[in-house]
Amino acid sequence: MTTESQLRADIVEIGRRMYARGYTASNDGNISVRLGSERLLMTPKSVCKGFMTPDMMCITDLSGQKLQGDRDPSSEMLMHLEVYRQRPDVQAVVHVHPPTATGFAVAGIPLDRAVLAEVLTTLGSIPIAEYATPSTRELPEAVRKYIKAHDGMLLANHGALTVGTDLYSAYYKMETIEHFAHISLVARILGRENLISRDEVLRLQELRGTYGIKAPAPICATDDGMVLNQADCQVVQAPESEGARLVPDVVRPSRESPSGRPPSIAANSPANDAARRLDGPADDGEIRLTYRELSQLIEEAIKALR
Ligand SMILES: [Zn+2]
Repeated sequence: MTTESQLRADIVEIGRRMYARGYTASNDGNISVRLGSERLLMTPKSVCKGFMTPDMMCITDLSGQKLQGDRDPSSEMLMHLEVYRQRPDVQAVVHVHPPTATGFAVAGIPLDRAVLAEVLTTLGSIPIAEYATPSTRELPEAVRKYIKAHDGMLLANHGALTVGTDLYSAYYKMETIEHFAHISLVARILGRENLISRDEVLRLQELRGTYGIKAPAPICATDDGMVLNQADCQVVQAPESEGARLVPDVVRPSRESPSGRPPSIAANSPANDAARRLDGPADDGEIRLTYRELSQLIEEAIKALR
């Protein structure tokens, strides 16, 4: 078993890494770990996670009563206590506000599309717990709905929460969520997010067993908007396909499809050349127009509308 002094040092190190990576600003965020079966070691209230020392930590019992430490325990202690109550298998809890993942939490967009194999095998899906006032009893209630089936979740208009079998596994899941959010954002900016098919998702689920990856619940794939119970399974958006393992994005059609260009653009105008390029095979997904071509294209389109 890891000694208390090692756990204190691990919390300091993880706090430093999260602050360095911009997952927290000022005094945001909190970290806790089980200390035997009856006690928790936790970051204190109102300290920057980038500059902690091992002696700053608090020790509480499982009801949140402070047993040791000069400072008061984290203001989000109630959320941590709820996680330990609901998940006897969880040894550590991490909560921060990583900017890209929190952006998804603010936009109300869960990270639940079947996009990256690594994320599917480790976290499955990353739902959004309903908005709750931070540091009140509302937050543990919002988290309770998802924590039995998920090791990571977004908190609406707030941040993200991850859990693990030790401090580093909880922290690495936070890294995975932020990295996944960043990749998802880039794919969406580029205008296309092809999905992993449902059969492939099932294959990845079997890999969990092969590699001994522990997950609190199975993945349930859906693509028809069917509402599945997220308390029991990790709901992932993955379409059916006829054997193909990747399914082209149907929400954002590729640029090879008809563009809806007005038909009355003069056949030999530079604008027409540009417009033709919009329709042409653009396998790299890029459109390259000169400023003149773009202006002309807009001008002709306005004329065609009159
Ligand atoms: Zn927070």
